[in-house]
Amino acid sequence: MKIAEWPLQSEFPHLHYQMPALFIGHGSPMNAIEDSEFSRAWAGIGQSIPKPKAILCISAHWETEGTRVTAMDRPRTIHDFRGFPKPLFDLEYPARGNPALARLLRAWAVDVPIALDFEWGLDHGAWSVLCRMFPLADIPVVQLSLDRSKPAAFHYGLGKSLRELRNRGILIVGSGNIVHNLGALVWQDTAYDWALDFDRQIKRLIINGKHDAIIRYARLGDAAQASVPTAEHFLPLLYILGLQEAGEETTFFSEKVTLGAISMTSLQVGEAIENMPCPSHDCSI
Ligand code: ZN
Repeated sequence: MKIAEWPLQSEFPHLHYQMPALFIGHGSPMNAIEDSEFSRAWAGIGQSIPKPKAILCISAHWETEGTRVTAMDRPRTIHDFRGFPKPLFDLEYPARGNPALARLLRAWAVDVPIALDFEWGLDHGAWSVLCRMFPLADIPVVQLSLDRSKPAAFHYGLGKSLRELRNRGILIVGSGNIVHNLGALVWQDTAYDWALDFDRQIKRLIINGKHDAIIRYARLGDAAQASVPTAEHFLPLLYILGLQEAGEETTFFSEKVTLGAISMTSLQVGEAIENMPCPSHDCSI
């Protein structure tokens, strides 16, 4: 479907700047309630970008058969973890949903059937980060699931197909971890050499625009096998890289591996400058 046919014009008009896209290494849910270098970085990012009209979050913690998008008006806060203190279970993130955006995504993604979902809500991959970035919870949030049956290239391609959302004031947040091996977890601020190696390797590939090599991360050797034993925390990164325009700048933050095998490395694709001339799009649409 051509952009001009895409029925977003009235709900989400074309803006004169591109919203950045973010990959956040979310790590422990405790970052939602504890002051940390990571939670401070997330708060800083939330203040540094224009206020989004809506947020589309791709979280490691929502895997489905087929792709789904949350379509309820009031998504519940899902406390999808065990063994953490009560204040974390008491935390609610009362952002509204955006059923219109969910329906439009579904109508628009002609190559990828996207089912409307009324059961999920906001899992901790989404709210533990968003409650720091946007503590007022006054921006609607929609979650897109990870189709567990699909290869890495599918997720990169689906991210790429969502690029136009960036011109419509929608912030797309991928929430996962470049390195995520719970079997190797240690509750200390330390890092295995293989975790540091893989984190650096992926960062270098991102800087050099080598997206194909990142999509084929499983071929990157033993460090990759140890760092990405299962794909779900890595895949949100591929959506954000798919959203990157050719030559567009990448800024890293929270560059650290902690807890032995959890990379908090996060990145912003693009810079958002309000009223910036829009060089590559017809703003009359
Ligand atoms: Zn996680």
